[in-house]
Amino acid sequence: MKRDYYEVLGVSKGATEQEIKKAYRQLARKYHPDVNPGDKEAEEKFKEATEAYEILSDPDKRARYDQMGHAGFDPNGGFGGFGGGFNDFGGFGDIFDMFFGGGGGGRRNGPVRGNDLQYDLTLTFEEAAFGTEKEIQIPRQETCSECQGSGAAPGTHPTNCSQCQGTGQIRATQRTPFGAIQTSKTCPNCNGTGQFIPNPCKECSGRGTVRKVKTLKVNVPAGSEHGLNLRFSGSGEAGLRGGPPGDLYVVLNVRPHKFFEREGNDIYCEMPITFVQAALGAEIDVPTLEGKVKMKIPEGTQTGTVFRLRGHGIPYRRGSGRGDQHVQILVTTPTKLTDKQKELLREFGEVTSEQQQMGKKSFFEKVKDNLRDAMG
Ligand SMILES: [Zn+2]
Ligand SMILES: [Zn+2]
Repeated sequence: MKRDYYEVLGVSKGATEQEIKKAYRQLARKYHPDVNPGDKEAEEKFKEATEAYEILSDPDKRARYDQMGHAGFDPNGGFGGFGGGFNDFGGFGDIFDMFFGGGGGGRRNGPVRGNDLQYDLTLTFEEAAFGTEKEIQIPRQETCSECQGSGAAPGTHPTNCSQCQGTGQIRATQRTPFGAIQTSKTCPNCNGTGQFIPNPCKECSGRGTVRKVKTLKVNVPAGSEHGLNLRFSGSGEAGLRGGPPGDLYVVLNVRPHKFFEREGNDIYCEMPITFVQAALGAEIDVPTLEGKVKMKIPEGTQTGTVFRLRGHGIPYRRGSGRGDQHVQILVTTPTKLTDKQKELLREFGEVTSEQQQMGKKSFFEKVKDNLRDAMG
């Protein structure tokens, strides 16, 4: 029994995009396999949360889920394959979507442009940051190679429809009390195409197009962000009767990172340090998108202080250079102290409060002095 996606993420049905993202980040941090090596239960929880996020973070998929629940998603489709390597998300979760563009409605006996297609491509944070090349599989209608799109068996030709003389429309005269009215309607014999195919092509049953799965290489540029729409002109479905093909849109779905938050080309992270490091200063290892770097923490650093690592952010998609990495320091309070440590801290506390009292005295004395001066 599959759990409700909202329940999995622990958010309400009306949760905002931000709330969903935040909930997923928290769960991902807690259950990520890197954090829980060998823990099967955590791994399952991580997968469950990832799947829920995948659906609820996409407005279209979320709407479909709200309407139909889990039944809205084919179990043999993109999600059946969950369970591969965690660092290679590209292989599953990609959902293929079609929307109707081009020649819906309209006149039917001329060339018709092929439908546009949309493909949702899921990327890791790093893939979007540094760019990647992905192979995608697109099922689409292609021009039938057997009949070159004519729909007629090789060696034969479509003829003009005898009922409408190739116009695709049938005129009728209707007699009314006001006189005769001319009306026209789509020819039922040829469905408005004006053509009759005496010997339909066997490959495509006379449609002129066949369904094929096309493999395409997609170059994702460095610096790409969530929601980016890459257009591949002419890679959509084949047109009909000599019409141009539609376009393919590849929409990027970038997964959140377990450690970094992205805003534009800058990235943000939190770095816990001990209060001893904060007080005395230290050199700490900070994770970046490309491994650890050393960062100096000055003596007396307060919690919440933000340091900037220049050029460690996301590369710019246009032009050169990169954004920065912002590191917010979180000073942690120690727990599970040994007796010796406690003793040292008590000593430290006594010295500190003496200092503060002395500080206070001089402060009050200053106030007194100031008052004296002010009153003459
Ligand atoms: Zn054909
Ligand atoms: Zn006809």
